[in-house]
Amino acid sequence: MTSTLYILPSTAAVDAFNRRAVEESGVLFGTPALTLRRLAEEIFTVAGDERRPISTVGRRLLLEEIVRERYRCGTGHYAALRDFPGFIGTLDNLFGELKQALVDPAAFSAVIRRIPGSGRLAELASLYGAYAAALAAKGLMDRHDMELAAMHHLRNGGPSPPVFDGVGAVRCRDIYDLTPLQLALLAELSRRVPVELRLPWNPERESLYGYVSRTADAVEALDNSDLQLEPVYEEPAGTFLTPFLAALFPGVDVPAEKSALPGRLALIAAPGPYRECEEIGRRIRGLLEEGADPADIAVLFRDAQGYGPMLEDVCRRYRIPVSYRRGAPLFTSPLVQACLAPFAVVRSRFGREELLGLVKSTYLEGTLFGVSPDEFEEVFLAAGYIDETMGRAEDLIGRRIAFLQKIGRSRDKEERVRRALRPLLRELRGFQAKKTLREFTELLEWFIGRRFIFRRGIEAHDPRALKRDASGIILFRQVLKELESDMRALGLADEPLEPGEFVALLKQGMEGVYLAGERSAGVAILNFHDARGLRFDHLFIGGLNEGVCPMRHDSHPLFKDADKLLFRRASGTRPFRTSREKGEEEPLLFCLAIGCAGRSLTFSSSYLDGRGNGMLRSPFLEELLAKVPLDEERVPVNRITPEPALCLEREELLNALAARGWLSLPQEGLAPLGDSLARIAGNAEVEAGRERFFQAEDKAARAAHATSHTGMLSRDDIVAELRAWYESPEGSRFAPTTLEEYGSCPFRYFLKRLLRLTPVEKPEMELAAKDELRDEGLLPLNDIVAGKEILREEAETVFARWEGERHTGESLLWEIEKGRLLALLEQMVALEGADDSAFVPVLFEQPFTDLAVEDDDGSRVLLTGKIDRIDVAAAGGIRVVDYKMAGDAGKYGALLKKEHLGETSFQMPVYLLAAARQLEEDSGAPVSRFTARYWLIRKLDPVDKDFTGGKEDFTGFFSTDPGERRELGDDSFLNRVCGKVRGMKRGDFQITPKECGFCEFGSVCRYVAVGMREEG
Ligand code: SF4
Repeated sequence: MTSTLYILPSTAAVDAFNRRAVEESGVLFGTPALTLRRLAEEIFTVAGDERRPISTVGRRLLLEEIVRERYRCGTGHYAALRDFPGFIGTLDNLFGELKQALVDPAAFSAVIRRIPGSGRLAELASLYGAYAAALAAKGLMDRHDMELAAMHHLRNGGPSPPVFDGVGAVRCRDIYDLTPLQLALLAELSRRVPVELRLPWNPERESLYGYVSRTADAVEALDNSDLQLEPVYEEPAGTFLTPFLAALFPGVDVPAEKSALPGRLALIAAPGPYRECEEIGRRIRGLLEEGADPADIAVLFRDAQGYGPMLEDVCRRYRIPVSYRRGAPLFTSPLVQACLAPFAVVRSRFGREELLGLVKSTYLEGTLFGVSPDEFEEVFLAAGYIDETMGRAEDLIGRRIAFLQKIGRSRDKEERVRRALRPLLRELRGFQAKKTLREFTELLEWFIGRRFIFRRGIEAHDPRALKRDASGIILFRQVLKELESDMRALGLADEPLEPGEFVALLKQGMEGVYLAGERSAGVAILNFHDARGLRFDHLFIGGLNEGVCPMRHDSHPLFKDADKLLFRRASGTRPFRTSREKGEEEPLLFCLAIGCAGRSLTFSSSYLDGRGNGMLRSPFLEELLAKVPLDEERVPVNRITPEPALCLEREELLNALAARGWLSLPQEGLAPLGDSLARIAGNAEVEAGRERFFQAEDKAARAAHATSHTGMLSRDDIVAELRAWYESPEGSRFAPTTLEEYGSCPFRYFLKRLLRLTPVEKPEMELAAKDELRDEGLLPLNDIVAGKEILREEAETVFARWEGERHTGESLLWEIEKGRLLALLEQMVALEGADDSAFVPVLFEQPFTDLAVEDDDGSRVLLTGKIDRIDVAAAGGIRVVDYKMAGDAGKYGALLKKEHLGETSFQMPVYLLAAARQLEEDSGAPVSRFTARYWLIRKLDPVDKDFTGGKEDFTGFFSTDPGERRELGDDSFLNRVCGKVRGMKRGDFQITPKECGFCEFGSVCRYVAVGMREEG
């Protein structure tokens, strides 16, 4: 008896197929269904190919080496990109596309040679050739090579793998996007068994199936009598899909009984993607309470990457079983973090926090050292130990012991800590020096074993933690092993690495590796591709917004659409799809997603994004609604505390009950609960107050609801203290950036500047250090003749100092960063030299203090700062120049608009006023014209604004005359400054950001985004 083997588009489809098979026959024999990738792997196992698969890190390392070698001399079209990690990733992706298109390096190169003026493409061809040659020389293969090898194995008459035992036919379902390589594999298979390839198609709806026609044409073109590859064209159907197609394509005949829409069709819109997921979660809970089986419910998104984790979070909160919950990324696993803790300690120069993190880790038995972690901390603090800058920890503790001895105090604890610390520090110092990958791996394994890290992981009593750690151990070892064998195969095994480089490689190896997930019978969360061919009684299609569905397809950055068309012309073949052709799949995918629905279908979108900006519906949804109107159920923006009946979490329910006063009556018998109930009621009142505040849709109404829980301080003594501070000489002095912080988000300013809450940050080679570059006077060079030489010398000095101060992070990255910075600076010097405006730089790094601004109430605000550069023009104009290590011209252009000046942007106007004061004092001549320039170094793009002759009317805006200002009201920059400071004095730090940047204080403010009007 022969059986049929099914080839399906995703593992989800294979799982569903197997489940159904078990339900129908009670038992599952063999492997009746596979994905295409599994099919290639099965065939490869019998191909006798000795090559070893290369991991992602190995591939990247190999490509890096090839690129380094090719551009060693610094010439070539892509030489400037050689240090960008993105370049390597893009090359990797291009070579994958070429292999899937069955275009080998020789063929690629031959066609490119026929394209006139294709030097850039010829470079890509030579890199492709070098990559293939390097893989071959080292006996390695990538994933695409494995599929190629499988195809050649069949073509050369090799034996079939065991999975084909007893198979009499193959049916390929719901796969219409075959690459030339995948089609060739199926074609070779069809020489042995008949292969049926079912493709979605209806000639009367060609526009919908345009994407499939490429595959259909390729199948027809095979036209070989040896092949038993049979395409079967069939239009997909479904309870909802068939009537929708009838409505969208009215000319096509559909039987009346199939064109009627069944019930349970809904359209929901929520204020933001998370709220959308919450609403879907609520509705799923409703279905479960009605008795629906979770396995009959699915939520589909065009791309589940962003929405998937949000919905999983909601399902966890609402206790909804999910069919597959992906585990956390391996790198974030606490066990892996404990294993890598020695490197963190070394990197921090044996920092106190990092050492304490290590000894407090639950994966290291604290008492192994005979001392509790708290005692370590007490002794470190008492000894004043921060890191090894002031001496080694054991020496500082030694000094403390000597001191205690001198004053006759007990020093037992210190002695014990020192004794315990010595061997540990000795072990950790072993991680400091350069080593080969093998040496680091051995050292790490020794440390893990000596400190029983893995053993403690698998001793966990909680089964979930045990499963997580067991999978962490297996995967971590696997990553180490793969890394080692790749390095050996690439000939890099003896290359000494810095500790940071070793960790960076490990991190790369762990990219995309996740701890074991959880499989259970539950709600499916899938993307449109993986859902193809599946059926669910209850279907939700979420994320139906413009920009999300349809997904955007961009031209490949290196092998652009125009190149693909040239290739097509030169070769007479069509192996690649352009971005437009890829986009043709989108309407079909949307329809196939609808086809998954059985009994109920809910479309869902967001009408606001996370910042309160409006979002548009997907054009596909709009098109559908134009033919089949549906009433939208809109989730209100501010429903923070839902009705008790709708609450799905304990906390939600308690808050909702208490807010309505239903928990506020402690009776005699409930007396012991009185305190708890009062606390719950208090919390609920705070939540209700916050809700009233966030419900207000304009500024004035919101201010009326502001309380101390929403950032409005009201206690008289506190406000009086604030006022006194802001009127003191120290408190009345402001840098423009401080005003900008307040203008952007008053609440954030309050937490950061007044309460001084700061998240712990690690010193990195970040903007602060980069900005120092200009502070060192490197950037304002205008002597072009000597400029580059001076620049290089100065830069070397500054770089050396940073390196000495260890501001520069990972050494490998820093070397790359240094080169980039220098190249940018050189180009800037050249551009500055070519600037033919009438302005001449006169002052650099000009500090100013106490630029006084009088407010109407007689108080004063003092402005301070440092201006990067002041230029003057002979006609009496000034220009202030500020250097930014940024590239977003749109953002900086917006900062110079009148509506933002004095609201969220203060720097340039303050600098202009300070520069004008300085120049007028120096020369006695009035300044007649104000111009500002942001020099965006990343893009080498200056953003200019002329405040005197531009499109916006700035008449009087910069006036310093009190009388004139009084008449101008809010049309005066200085009045706006005073307005902000008055707000601070009033204690007004409301959670009303101009634009919430979802900063590090998000969990404190719990901001709710609302599209708010400025005026009431
Ligand atoms: S999260 Fe947004 S609203 Fe909250 S403090 Fe930060 S910027 Fe302000």
